[in-house]
Amino acid sequence: MKNIVVVGCGTMGNGIAHLFAQNNYDVYLNDISDEYLQKALKIISNNLDRQIKKGEITEEQKNSTLTNIKATTNLESALQNPDLVIEAVSENINLKKDIFNKVDKISPPKTIIASNTSSISITELAQSTKRAEKVIGMHFMNPVPVIKLIEVIRGKSTSDETCKIIMDLSKSLNKTPVEVNDFPGFVTNRILIPMLNEAIYCVMQKVAEPEAIDTVMKLGMNHPMGPLTLADYIGLDVCLSIMNVLYEGFKDPKYLPCPLLLEMVANGNLGRKTGKGFFNYN
Ligand code: NAD
Repeated sequence: MKNIVVVGCGTMGNGIAHLFAQNNYDVYLNDISDEYLQKALKIISNNLDRQIKKGEITEEQKNSTLTNIKATTNLESALQNPDLVIEAVSENINLKKDIFNKVDKISPPKTIIASNTSSISITELAQSTKRAEKVIGMHFMNPVPVIKLIEVIRGKSTSDETCKIIMDLSKSLNKTPVEVNDFPGFVTNRILIPMLNEAIYCVMQKVAEPEAIDTVMKLGMNHPMGPLTLADYIGLDVCLSIMNVLYEGFKDPKYLPCPLLLEMVANGNLGRKTGKGFFNYN
C-alpha cells in the first residue's frame, strides 16, 4: 500500500488525505473544482500548523505532508495506479454508485475501493463494480487526524483478504479499526443518530431548553459534547439523511425522524455550517 486516491475533499476527504499524507503515503486528492481543492489544502495546512503548535509534528513534517498530496480535478489521471481509493463524496447513493462504477472501470485490478459512507450499504455500492470482493467500508470519524476509531464495514462479498489488508492498513495509521457487518447505520450511527433524534424530541416537546439537555448528557452521562451541539456539528441535514436510511432499512417507526428535525432542515438551519441550528454560531 503506497498510492491512495481520496475522492471528495470536503470535511472528511481533506482529513483522510491529511492522515495518509502524514503517514508517508502518496495521496491524490480529487474533487469537482479547483476552488474546493485549494480550500481543502488550506484547511490541511492550518490543521498541520495546529499540530506544530501542540508540539506533535515539526515544520519539516508539515512540509513533507503537504508534498505528499497532489490535488486534481482529473479523476482518470489519478486512477492510473492506486492501491486504494477512498470515496468521501456527499452522502448520496446515486452519486456514490457512479463513482464506484467509474473507479472500477478505470483503476487496475489490484485496487481496493473503500467508502467513507456514514450509512449507505457497502453491499449495494459493491454491486456497481465487478470487484465486490475488493469493496469495503472505511468509516472515519470527524476530525479524522484526531479520532482513533475506524469502523471497518464488511459487505456481503468483501473477502477476508481485503478485510485483513484494511485492518492492517488502519493500524499502520495509528488508528484502532473495528470490524462490523453491513447493516443500516452500521454500529456508530445506528446508536448515535437515534440518540440525537431523541434529544431533538426533548426540545420539541419542551422537556428542557437545548442548553439544559446538553448539560444533562455532558455531566450526567460523561459525554464530551452534548447531543444537540453534536447534531449541529455533524449537520442536521446529515442527521436527517441517516435517520431516513435507518427507517428505510429497518421499516421500524422508532427510526422516524423527529418533526422538528425535518422543519429545521427545511428552513435551512443545518447547524454549525449555516451558522444556526440548536445554537447560534455567528
Ligand atoms: P462534504 O459535503 O463536506 O464534502 C463532500 C465533497 O464531495 C464536496 O467537496 C463535494 O464537492 C465533493 N463531491 C461531490 N461530487 C463529487 C464528484 N462527483 N467527484 C468528486 N467530488 C465530489 O461532506 P463530508 O461531511 O466530508 O461527508 C463525506 C462522506 O463522509 C459522506 O458519505 C458522509 O456521510 C461521510 N461522513 C461524514 C462525517 C462528518 O462528520 N461530516 C463523518 C463520517 C462520515
